[in-house]
Amino acid sequence: MTKAIVYKFGGASVKDAAAIKNLSNILFNRLRSPMVIVVSAIGKTTNALEEILRLKYEEEDFYSNFTNVRKNHLAICEELFEEGDLVFGMVENIFLQLARVLEGKLTKENYDEYYDQVVGFGELLSSKIIQAYLCHCQQYCIWQDARDFIRTDGNFRFAKVDWDKTTKLCQQNLVPVLKQLPVVTQGFVGSTKDGKPTTLGREGSDFSAAIFASSLGAGTVTIWKDVPGVLNADPKRFEDTVKFDQLDYKEAAEMTFYGASVIHPRTIKPLANANIPLHVKSFVQPDEQGTVIGDFGASKVSMPTVVVKDRQVLVTFEVTDFTFINESHMHQVYAELDRLKLRANLIQSSAITISICTDREMFKLEQLLAEMRPVFNVRYNENLQLITVKNYDEKIKSRFLAQSDVLLEQTTRSTFQVVRRAKEA
Ligand code: ASP
Ligand code: MG
Repeated sequence: MTKAIVYKFGGASVKDAAAIKNLSNILFNRLRSPMVIVVSAIGKTTNALEEILRLKYEEEDFYSNFTNVRKNHLAICEELFEEGDLVFGMVENIFLQLARVLEGKLTKENYDEYYDQVVGFGELLSSKIIQAYLCHCQQYCIWQDARDFIRTDGNFRFAKVDWDKTTKLCQQNLVPVLKQLPVVTQGFVGSTKDGKPTTLGREGSDFSAAIFASSLGAGTVTIWKDVPGVLNADPKRFEDTVKFDQLDYKEAAEMTFYGASVIHPRTIKPLANANIPLHVKSFVQPDEQGTVIGDFGASKVSMPTVVVKDRQVLVTFEVTDFTFINESHMHQVYAELDRLKLRANLIQSSAITISICTDREMFKLEQLLAEMRPVFNVRYNENLQLITVKNYDEKIKSRFLAQSDVLLEQTTRSTFQVVRRAKEA
């Protein structure tokens, strides 16, 4: 088999009927075999499903939220298909299944497992509708359930991929299908060996594309975005951004580590390991060049690159007994972060404090505080941003430092970071 091509379309690229028509136009002279088309949930569906879960958890009524999600999908279908098309029954049927799942009991204990059963419906719906629409446009392709190929452990919401098994499943069961027709499948989802649905972490569809690519030994992956490629800052927050034409895997991975949302952080590694180039292209201007991420060696990126990470908390642990911070204090804090699977995005210590900037995650901050309060004086600030500037210059550094709401700063030779109260640039 010639090498497969993997395309990934995120939520924004399939957000409404016009977007799905645009997807079909992009595929017009690009659809080929073997090809895997990985799609995310339509628009903000995953957020809407999360909200339904939240309401259910708080024992509030989620009926109107459910109805909105259902109506939104049906309205999109009405624009894409003629009345009476089989797609309507199929979509209704998926909502019946979702309603049945939502009848189950949701507790703190089963929250993550339940979450995975519910949110995967977003991708199920989008992939079914898109495959049906492509066929409707005579762009023949076949729907496949990603959960039949992406095998994970049972770490619900943050499932870890079993690479060996996934590769085997792809080689044995997906390759034969790909020889027949291009495949449309879902991002974000997988399943355990006993068939329980899992998800790979929010925005995980890019990672899914990389998993398929790596398991199939694909030739390239293309992620279709609402930006022209990888830019040196988020154009929604900053003016005068510049696009990278090419970027080394390492640079790109580092940017995602600091929070660049253009690609999911876990996407790069499997592609780099297999030396599969990753194209980031605009779904608005699909013929433009975009950015290619590959093995370009230590390309000297000299442009300052700004990455903003939202929803940060800064927690400060202060010793209570007039001792100084030592390794054992560090160890205590790290051990707890490790146990809670919380990542320190930035860490700074002084004589009597350790400060950690971490993502705000449901339940986890509370647990961290509860565990550490007997040992330290603990203070924290929420609703912060972590701003990282790679290859900073003095101008950009003073621009961020001039702002009065900086809580912490840290500078190395190549990277400058500040934690500040959330606001727009
Ligand atoms: N739909 C999922 C999310 O919004 C996965 C993705 O879009 O990549 O997190
Ligand atoms: Mg999404």
